[in-house]
Amino acid sequence: MRPGYPRSLREFTKLFADEAACRAYLARSRWPEGFQCPRCRHGEALELPTRLLWRCRSCGHDTSVTAGTVLHRTRISLTQWFWAAYLVSTQTPGFSALQLQRQLGLGRYETAWAMLQKLRRAMVRPERELLKDKVEVDETDIGGPEVGLRGGRHVIDKAIVVGAVEVRGKASGRVRLKVVPDVSGPSLTGFVKANVAPGALVLTDGWQGYAPLSGMGYKHRPRTQGPRERAGKILPLIHRAFGNLKTWLRGTHHGVGHAHLQAYLDEFTFRYNRRRTPMAAFQTLLGLGSQHSPTTYKQLYRVELNG
Ligand SMILES: [Zn+2]
Repeated sequence: MRPGYPRSLREFTKLFADEAACRAYLARSRWPEGFQCPRCRHGEALELPTRLLWRCRSCGHDTSVTAGTVLHRTRISLTQWFWAAYLVSTQTPGFSALQLQRQLGLGRYETAWAMLQKLRRAMVRPERELLKDKVEVDETDIGGPEVGLRGGRHVIDKAIVVGAVEVRGKASGRVRLKVVPDVSGPSLTGFVKANVAPGALVLTDGWQGYAPLSGMGYKHRPRTQGPRERAGKILPLIHRAFGNLKTWLRGTHHGVGHAHLQAYLDEFTFRYNRRRTPMAAFQTLLGLGSQHSPTTYKQLYRVELNG
């Protein structure tokens, strides 16, 4: 079994008190059933702590416990990385580089910024599963002059975002979000194809850009709306997700440029999809979840459904 993750600050400080404790945790994540040499299958190894390597006692082969994770060949201590992942994954709505620098007592702002960037990159899982069964899809405008703010200040550059969310009864399942250049058929159906499993029931409004979906292996159910205000009733879940996204962008990230918007959408998606299991997100951020357990996401999802 893979090791669990801390469920509170108290557990965290107990589990990861020093470098040795963090190293042991990495080894347990890497070899849930105990060490096994990838070359000769031998079960005993000598730990080389300063290099984060395990050396097989039979054939001498070295195996890194950090390969494939953000911790690989880092100069930052493991305890600081673990703290960073903990703070970033458990703090809603998110963490700034300045906050991280202060909390970890890092000498340089740039170090904190680079750590955050790495952790953010870990928020996108390239192998992530497609949305399935029943999915709402719609697009929205993000940014532009904010109504009600003095002088029509630009909070975020104007952009079009297309989103999809799984319908689980009255609740939302997982979400996906993407910046698109326009609301043309290729932009919208391309997004659906990349994010929704074939055969799924796709609910959209009556916009013609979605019309090709039925010829692409989806059960497409377009619903014509009257006035724009009704869109929230036809597609309530994706509109709720858009609302949460806009609140989050306004509240946490003042002045997100168009160039960085997709990265923020990815972070929002990561947090949203793990909103009931923030501590499991901690493992994912460190890259410990995906190495030996391709079913991690399913397990997380099951937790979410039950929770
Ligand atoms: Zn060996």
